[in-house]
Amino acid sequence: MTLRNAYVTDELEAIYDQTVDFVTKEVIPHGEVWEEAGKVPRDVLRKMGDLGMFGLRVPEEHGGLGMGPLASATFAEALGASTFAGFDVTVLVHTDMAGPHLLNSGSPGQLAEWVPKMLSGEAILSIGVTEPDAGSDVAGMRSTAVKDGDGWRINGTKTFITNGVYGEMTIVAAKTNPDSRYGITMFLVPAGTEGFSVAKKLSKHGWLCSDTAELVLDDVWVSDDQVLGTVHRGFYETMRNFQNERMVIIAEGVGAAQAAIDTTNEYVYERKAFGGRLSDLGAIRQRMAMNQAKIDAVRAAVYHAAWMCEQSADGIPSEAAVKAMSGVKAFGAEAINQVMYDCLQFHGGMGYMRETAIERMYRDARIIPIGGGATEVMLEEVAKRSYGMD
Ligand SMILES: Cc1cc2nc3c(=O)[nH]c(=O)nc-3n(C[C@H](O)[C@H](O)[C@H](O)COP(=O)(O)OP(=O)(O)OC[C@H]3O[C@@H](n4cnc5c(N)ncnc54)[C@H](O)[C@@H]3O)c2cc1C
Repeated sequence: MTLRNAYVTDELEAIYDQTVDFVTKEVIPHGEVWEEAGKVPRDVLRKMGDLGMFGLRVPEEHGGLGMGPLASATFAEALGASTFAGFDVTVLVHTDMAGPHLLNSGSPGQLAEWVPKMLSGEAILSIGVTEPDAGSDVAGMRSTAVKDGDGWRINGTKTFITNGVYGEMTIVAAKTNPDSRYGITMFLVPAGTEGFSVAKKLSKHGWLCSDTAELVLDDVWVSDDQVLGTVHRGFYETMRNFQNERMVIIAEGVGAAQAAIDTTNEYVYERKAFGGRLSDLGAIRQRMAMNQAKIDAVRAAVYHAAWMCEQSADGIPSEAAVKAMSGVKAFGAEAINQVMYDCLQFHGGMGYMRETAIERMYRDARIIPIGGGATEVMLEEVAKRSYGMD
């Protein structure tokens, strides 16, 4: 067994191997069909549920393994080997972007109702924060929830919501305190709730098998029992989960970039030109060697940032961890895209053909510097913590 980095234990190595084995057998042979359909079939997600793959972060008392950020990073990197990032993000939104909100803030009743279904894949989760007029500026959201009897009435529009078309439950953020920019509350809103609808299944540049929705909340009434966490504290609860989200996006990208490097190295070794192989050409072998070094550096940095997050006893990442993770998100996203660019380039015309994996991986990677915190926003997070926090 090769230890991939200093933070990876035997247990994590086993998770990595099991996940790579799963995507090799269950995803790679079918991914093209799912891309055409714009959907990951539910039976493959249920199969993952049956294998316990959705429970890494779920506390043991709720049926999971109760592991920390390093387990999520390992899982995400292994998913990246699928070469179908649309599949990877379908899973990671469920386990690591929406799931932590439920696990961190859920009441005993909410956990009892939703965690078993989340673990089995019977209910696929989504997180509804972004709006047509508020993405990076989360606090600028316009959706409102107003107290109404024993519950709340929610109005607004959410966009770019992964798993929002076919998923069973969206964790919706809405403004509950009009007097405060940060007065936001999170709500559990199951699909099928009156007034809650998919306005559009969005058509994308990449991540084609991942479903992405524009969702409308038109006078949606939810009971007090559907408030997730503390009223008016949703902004801070969302921020707390952002580090995990950023971490899995980059770790997935590392796995994907490694697959791209491996497949490109094979291609340039096989491809004959100028009386030899493409891999004999100094320009190509040196660039590919540098690409490997860059991805090794991003891998090390993202596991290190994951380890920093894992050190906080209360689960709230330290300022140093936020700074490290924001930096990795910014640098890693650009490095991964640059690697994908070179890998496509060295496939020549074939790299531009829909039939090659690299053509898809290049498109899929483009969202990494945008989603879950754009590069420029991440760099501001680093800068703020470099010069003082005021
Ligand atoms: C395929 C896909 C899936 C997604 N899934 C989800 C999901 O499941 N749930 C969810 O809630 N959201 C989701 N998102 C939304 C995603 O997180 C946002 O797109 C992202 O946060 C950027 O917000 P925006 O698109 O509104 O861009 P804007 O905020 O309008 O920013 C546009 C650009 O301006 C620059 N910029 C922004 N702010 C600053 C700044 N402070 N300083 C310097 N430059 C800046 C950046 O380059 C940025 O890319 C998804 C998006 C996509 C495309």
